[in-house]
Amino acid sequence: MRFGIVGGGIGGLTAALVIARRGHEVSVFERSSAFREVGAGVQISPNAGRVLHSLGLGDAFDEISVHPERMVFRRWEDDSIIRANDFDQAFADQYGMALASVARTDLIEILAQAVAAVPNINVSLASRVTHVEPGDETSTIFFADETSLPFDVVIGADGIHSVVRPSVGGVDSARFSGSVAYRALVPLDAVEDLPVDFTNRVGPDRHVVSYFIGKDRQYLNLVCISPEDTWSTESWTEPGTLDDLRERFEGWSPELLSILDRVEEPVFRWALYDREPLEQWGIGSTTLLGDACHPMLPFMAQGSCQAIEDAAILGRCLDDVDGVDGVDDVAGVVAALRRYETARQGRTAQVQTTSFMNRDLFHMPDGEMQQGRDEFLASGVAGFGPLEWVYSYDALTAAI
Ligand SMILES: Cc1cc2nc3c(=O)[nH]c(=O)nc-3n(C[C@H](O)[C@H](O)[C@H](O)COP(=O)(O)OP(=O)(O)OC[C@H]3O[C@@H](n4cnc5c(N)ncnc54)[C@H](O)[C@@H]3O)c2cc1C
Repeated sequence: MRFGIVGGGIGGLTAALVIARRGHEVSVFERSSAFREVGAGVQISPNAGRVLHSLGLGDAFDEISVHPERMVFRRWEDDSIIRANDFDQAFADQYGMALASVARTDLIEILAQAVAAVPNINVSLASRVTHVEPGDETSTIFFADETSLPFDVVIGADGIHSVVRPSVGGVDSARFSGSVAYRALVPLDAVEDLPVDFTNRVGPDRHVVSYFIGKDRQYLNLVCISPEDTWSTESWTEPGTLDDLRERFEGWSPELLSILDRVEEPVFRWALYDREPLEQWGIGSTTLLGDACHPMLPFMAQGSCQAIEDAAILGRCLDDVDGVDGVDDVAGVVAALRRYETARQGRTAQVQTTSFMNRDLFHMPDGEMQQGRDEFLASGVAGFGPLEWVYSYDALTAAI
């Protein structure tokens, strides 16, 4: 069968690999003229890492990964530890692998290289899709150059501002979270003294996440979340200034300010949007995947991971369609798409909602509630208990 995938991000490329392995012809349409990723780092937890391993990318993925030694919550004002958990051997044994942080460009590169090596995947760069017309037997992709192409199945993996989403009825607007992320990098030689932690410094209205990324730990990646009333510029990323970033974290711990002093410009500002969970992901032979159907705030570090899980589950749903001796099973494939959507909607909505709620959890003003939160975090559920449901999910074996 012929599959058309709109969008060559982490979700679209993983889906291409998964589907092509099942013998289908896959065409990927990416609007950029080269595969590239904006933003610096991304964490890939075991629930997604095991999918990448299953695609034969284990060695390449390990090579680009940094494995943080601890997950540490610190208090904004004095850097005191609220809670720390080791990513130790017991973690790796429990979840089958370590948690990884990677440079997004590295991850896209290994996916793009893997895609290029598969003969039944064809990639068209600089191909901007305008919309899709879903049908029961074929769905048609329309391009900005006024051409169009029919496919047996179309998958919209084109991110939060998806043009495919409205084609299946998702006409809601993305919602601005009231926060912006400043994304910045510090070269390793300026931060060699710091532990290899995943750190979340939480404070009133703000939090700062830091972790190492890149081959041989090239950079400390910083994501500094700060309030913003509105986002008025057209683009959702724009250059920021280090002075502005420092000003927003005035009064925070000397440890954090010292890290900010070591930032290497440029600094980018990133508007944080999400959407409410979407009820209908597909019509006929068109469906959605990744941020196109479940964009979320990055406060669980799960957006890419969920897109990767989507791809794995979609592939498994298509297994039932494959055994038709070369005859295109049109009804079967449409049923498989609906099964995929049903299998994914509950979990991704839960991750979206929890990510949204984490904003309030991380940003509590000092006071009774914050003290209660800190006591709970310090003494609460052992180990990675609160994240157990996220990390233990195995898209390769989960019931569909
Ligand atoms: C600050 C921040 C930190 C984050 N940290 C993490 C993290 O640690 N872990 C994690 O798992 N997730 C994280 N995320 C979320 C993650 O970035 C997204 O969830 C992920 O990139 C979604 O992948 P995707 O492939 O669905 O969409 P995208 O990455 O948005 O890819 C969509 C692709 O489609 C292309 N495209 C768009 N429109 C068209 C069109 N009309 N025609 C053709 N092509 C088109 C785009 O160019 C792009 O290549 C973070 C997000 C932010 C903002």
